[in-house]
Amino acid sequence: MDRERAPQSSGRALIVEDEPRIRELVALHLSLEGLTSVEAGDGDEALRLARADRFALIVLDLMLPGLDGVTVCRAIRRDSPNAETPILMLTARSEESDKVLGLESGADDYLTKPFGTGELMARIRVALRRSGQADAAAEEVLEVGDIRVDQPRHEVTVAGKLVHLTPIEFKILVELARQPGRVLTHRQLGRAIWGAMPTEQSHTLRVHVAALRRKIEEDPARPRWLVTEAGVGYRLRDERSTG
Ligand code: CA
Repeated sequence: MDRERAPQSSGRALIVEDEPRIRELVALHLSLEGLTSVEAGDGDEALRLARADRFALIVLDLMLPGLDGVTVCRAIRRDSPNAETPILMLTARSEESDKVLGLESGADDYLTKPFGTGELMARIRVALRRSGQADAAAEEVLEVGDIRVDQPRHEVTVAGKLVHLTPIEFKILVELARQPGRVLTHRQLGRAIWGAMPTEQSHTLRVHVAALRRKIEEDPARPRWLVTEAGVGYRLRDERSTG
């Protein structure tokens, strides 16, 4: 998927909820934040809309007729222009497993029904703030040691030399370069790349990291930049802090 060419978010939110009264309530409160709403009453319609357009925010009910909220959320993260759109999930039950399921499927936050309008507004504001920050962050040029990641141009150079990365390698590098020196766990990286981290993708991640190292490291067996923190994850070494 090419996020460069994805249409810009236009202050529109997607509300996915089969109960018309809740849909209206959410739409009303989104309008108070200056957003217009597109509404879907089932999961299939939601996925169709999410694949056709990019939204500033998605409010997604967990229990839906047709495709359920978790399935819709995973599909949005995996394959739509909304891979990075904040998703606020609505759950009818307060069970911990539902919240975990929602977050693991790629939602940013959840709200348990019934909710007060004050709480709804607060969550909407947090999600929108995150959205604005994500848009700004995607325009940055990141520099860590000899590595330079030009996000708007989708170009990576190491010591001035251009390297060609696959979209997933690029994504891994961006995530690490955004937080130089900090260890990102397999799960955090997986979530950033695929929206969720099914267990079988831990191996896939290692394969992509190995391929990335072959491109950015002089000696991939003894990486200077992309280092492994055994049993935890990966870190992009920030020469300024390690000396
Ligand atoms: Ca429902």
